Amino acid sequence: MLQLSRTCAVILILVTSSLLAFSSAPTGGYRFLIDLENVNDDRVSVEAFCPSVTENTINFCLPKIVPGTYSIYDFGRFIDDFSAYDKDGNALKWTSKDSNTWTIQDATKLNRITYKVNDSFDAYGKGNPIFEPAGSNIQRDTNYLINSFAYVGFFESQTELPYILNVKHKPGFYGGTALIDQDPSSTMDEYRFPDYHELADNPIMYAAADTASVMVGATQVLISLYSPNKTISAKFLAGQLDTLLQAQGKYLGGKLPVNKYAFIIYLTEKDGGISGGVGALEHSYSSVYFMPEVPPEQFAAKFRDFASHEFFHIVTPLNIHSKEIQYFDFSNPKMSEHLWLYEGTTEYHAHQVQVKYNLISREEYLDVLRGKISISRQYFNDTVPFTVMSTNILDQYKDEFFNVYQKGALIGMCLDLKLLSLSNGRYGIQKLIADLSSYYGKGRPFEDDELFNKIAEVSHYPEIRAFFSKYVEGNTPIPMRIFSNLPVCNYLPLCQKKNSHLAEL
Ligand SMILES: [Zn+2]
Repeated sequence: MLQLSRTCAVILILVTSSLLAFSSAPTGGYRFLIDLENVNDDRVSVEAFCPSVTENTINFCLPKIVPGTYSIYDFGRFIDDFSAYDKDGNALKWTSKDSNTWTIQDATKLNRITYKVNDSFDAYGKGNPIFEPAGSNIQRDTNYLINSFAYVGFFESQTELPYILNVKHKPGFYGGTALIDQDPSSTMDEYRFPDYHELADNPIMYAAADTASVMVGATQVLISLYSPNKTISAKFLAGQLDTLLQAQGKYLGGKLPVNKYAFIIYLTEKDGGISGGVGALEHSYSSVYFMPEVPPEQFAAKFRDFASHEFFHIVTPLNIHSKEIQYFDFSNPKMSEHLWLYEGTTEYHAHQVQVKYNLISREEYLDVLRGKISISRQYFNDTVPFTVMSTNILDQYKDEFFNVYQKGALIGMCLDLKLLSLSNGRYGIQKLIADLSSYYGKGRPFEDDELFNKIAEVSHYPEIRAFFSKYVEGNTPIPMRIFSNLPVCNYLPLCQKKNSHLAEL
């Protein structure tokens, strides 16, 4: 089932019928149809019209890896019954190059491609389980989690072309997403994307609607929830999240970089899923959560920490990211060296905002810090440079990944303290992030090796370059003495007087 053979292709010549009367892709682009009304054995039918091909063969691919996961997942493993046809409905031959790639022959005649997608949530026996927030769920007439990259493919090296995605669904089903549906029909949705990167960055969850909204400044924040026993409602969660989101809005200067944001939440009746993990995956305009369905008050506290972290990803990577992320290669990815920024500072902000706006007490905050120090020191290598670990996170330093939330956050905190110390409390990480966002922004990625120099430049504290050389690029562990007797750092003037160790940074 992992790889289809040539024999299968011959048998599949018999499969001819089109799912819907779509005749073409957008000019120079792709059109895909995901048919949620055509589901058998937890498999969804997909039909694709692709850009015209001038070569004799073409490689059709699904991603090997997607942004934010830092793991090779091989989404092609979940595809069955792959077929390619010419305009008269004759099947074209193909071979399977690897688990993510189908090489189609006579490709100049290609008119459409069809296949079925298995869900990853119950893919027992397939090995290498996918962390559920990055996976696919197909429960007929109940719930469909559509991480688009698990359903939609691309021609090799042609991910920069426009996409139209249609989703056929039963009436009463609602697609929870940050996207705007362009089709007024109650059984068909249409979403448009400038390229595959945007498509992959926008998950959708279809289920009977349970949604609520919170306004943060001018930004609409949608909460789309699937709670199998209706233990928790979107309205309840909206109430719980409101205070946090307003605080995050203030923390980011009052104006958020997105017009609409979606929390997409799948609750499971089990303790966990096939991957054994619970948690979330971030996107630029949304985040997907996979968590146990527990009593509401118990759920809300845990969810607040997850949500705080994921929501801050609207800063980085959305507005501050390297070329490796902007032009993410879904087949042969190259990892950026700046996980300290993408995950570390995000995790630092997630707790900092809560103490700054009194959502948690100083003692609770210090407990979080103590936990990070202790886990980081006990379980991870403190002398491997964070930039080196980050670049090699898929292989050599795979087991160090969890440290991005521990030491990564501590690096964020030390950077904040150092900047505040240099500026006598006037310039910290919040202002740095704002300055970097306005210098770079969504469409302007940085070169990996320019970032530290740019931080020294935009912050106007060139001394900060030495901090990165020593503690992020270098192998010097952060001197943990600075965390002893630590004041909460929004009170840095006090911090400077009391904490003589800060000068060591
Ligand atoms: Zn994250």
